[in-house]
Amino acid sequence: MPIVALKDVRKSFGSVQVLHGVSFFVEKGEVVALIGASGSGKSTALRCIDRLEVIDSGEIEVCGHRVDDPKLDLRRLRQDVGIVFQSYNLFPHLTIAENIMLAPRSVKKMSKAEARAVAEGVLAKVGLAEKADQYPEQLSGGQQQRAAIARSLAMEPKVMLFDEVTSALDPKLTGEVLRVIESLAAGGMTMIMVTHEMNFARRIADQVVFMHQGRIHEHGPAGILDRPTTPELRDFVAEEL
Ligand code: ADP
Ligand code: MG
Repeated sequence: MPIVALKDVRKSFGSVQVLHGVSFFVEKGEVVALIGASGSGKSTALRCIDRLEVIDSGEIEVCGHRVDDPKLDLRRLRQDVGIVFQSYNLFPHLTIAENIMLAPRSVKKMSKAEARAVAEGVLAKVGLAEKADQYPEQLSGGQQQRAAIARSLAMEPKVMLFDEVTSALDPKLTGEVLRVIESLAAGGMTMIMVTHEMNFARRIADQVVFMHQGRIHEHGPAGILDRPTTPELRDFVAEEL
């Protein structure tokens, strides 16, 4: 049983069709790298999985939730799915721990002490134990992104979605964020990540989904990056080197 299933997903914004029938399946513990040129529909596909966008037709099932069902319980879906974006969106007036404690407090109704313990646990996981009581502006971009990942982990998601989480970072900070993601993958986390880090995708992805103009143009194990069968993927990989 896949933990994420997209079947013939279509999505338009106004008269512009952005997803033209996208289908893929993710088993528990798998890492999927979603790649493709800017504008190919990667973010839209990811946002549809978390119901940040409502699809026009097709089916999406995530952790047993029918995402395309208008009666979907959004709160329960969002508990199972963590999503991290390129921008960290940490609240500047709250400490790192306080940022992380917000959702466990409000959604899971945890006590302050319980939520604090959770925050300390997830911060240790991303290598930021000593930053709990600092404010976002006191952290580097890479540390803020790791804090944003920790904030997602605090809700114990079953699936993590990453949308170009290292695109705003320089190479050194990118490396430290990728190492955190790699350790999550090694721990068995199911994840779908939009990324331009081809070497990282080669190393950790079980599946590579290459999107082109709103369609899946090539799809397979990470080896397709070294043996592309379409000129579009070949050109894309060459440009990302
Ligand atoms: P990618 O993440 O691969 O760069 P996106 O999914 O962000 O691609 O965008 C795919 C296409 O959909 C682009 O042409 C983009 O301009 C358009 N698009 C994305 N979101 C919206 C929106 N909210 N309203 C209108 N057009 C959008
Ligand atoms: Mg995008």
